[in-house]
Amino acid sequence: MTKPIARRLRESDEEELLQWISTNRLRKVLIQAPLGLKHLISEVKAVLERSSVDYVVSASNCWGGCDVAVGEALRVRADGIVHIGHAPFMRIDSVKVFYLEGRYLDPEPLLNVLGPTIEQLSGHSRVGLGMSVQWLNFLDLVISKLNDHGIEAVTGEAEGRLAHRGQVIGCDYTPLMKLKGAVDVYLCIGSLFHSLGLAMTSSKPTLSADPHTCKVLWANELADRMYRQRYANIERFKSARKIGVILSTKPGQYLPGLAKRITSLLKDRGYEADELVTDEVNEYLLMDQRYDAYVNSACPRLSVEDQSKFTKPLLLPSEVLVALNIISWSEFLERGLLFRMYVPGGV
Ligand code: SF4
Repeated sequence: MTKPIARRLRESDEEELLQWISTNRLRKVLIQAPLGLKHLISEVKAVLERSSVDYVVSASNCWGGCDVAVGEALRVRADGIVHIGHAPFMRIDSVKVFYLEGRYLDPEPLLNVLGPTIEQLSGHSRVGLGMSVQWLNFLDLVISKLNDHGIEAVTGEAEGRLAHRGQVIGCDYTPLMKLKGAVDVYLCIGSLFHSLGLAMTSSKPTLSADPHTCKVLWANELADRMYRQRYANIERFKSARKIGVILSTKPGQYLPGLAKRITSLLKDRGYEADELVTDEVNEYLLMDQRYDAYVNSACPRLSVEDQSKFTKPLLLPSEVLVALNIISWSEFLERGLLFRMYVPGGV
């Protein structure tokens, strides 16, 4: 059963927000939130109205901590952004950013899924634990509950794009991968989206526990299915000649070095390849382009979750290496390379 989980601003969030405005002497603030957390905008507005700061609300999509609306803020001459729902992902210098992570304050939904989670983990003594940012207030609580049942839980430290110990995001599992040799299985608390990414990266048994839907399931079968789809698209890509290499302008998805490197590689191998610059990547945009296939240097999850919406292959940069026979499919799987070219020092 899906239970609605209310999220509100804490008093401390409100105080920190007002303090941030006054310390930075902000005059105008842009508020942005992802779908599902838009209701927090009213609460933020109510807090801002207690100060003299002007504000404007972004109506655009917001997909992750990578998607801070810097361009919109500069355009409307805002000197600050209140970014709701994600943790810091990268350094931003051109505008001040306040990250309102929207963490859950009530552990009950999480405690409700712990029973079935512990049952599924029976027989495993060492677990690599990751959580989406909204549940991180309860990281140590979960570790101690697992310990009570004889399960040692270890977590990754904050590093790179991960602002917090124990945090997972959809495109970078580096801290948890460092624990790979030391754990039997992984446990990911949050949505299946995060668990699937972890299962596709680690190839270890990965248990997904979603306090929202109360579902506890192993994500590896879905990961295998996704990999079969990815392989089919790599095969289709091999017969393409004209390739569009997508470069997103979103601050945390803007990887011009990666897009250039892939474009040059394709040209060297006899393909016709162009870099395509865009903010959003969607099927409507690509429908009208005249390319046989695409390479996606923007959010890698578009190629995993949204491939079926695109009529042409939308390969990840690492998958291009397989299509060009630079690395084998088995090596690709064994080394968990799917998202690795997005991480500094990747493949
Ligand atoms: S790039 Fe994609 S998966 Fe990574 S943080 Fe952004 S939206 Fe999430």
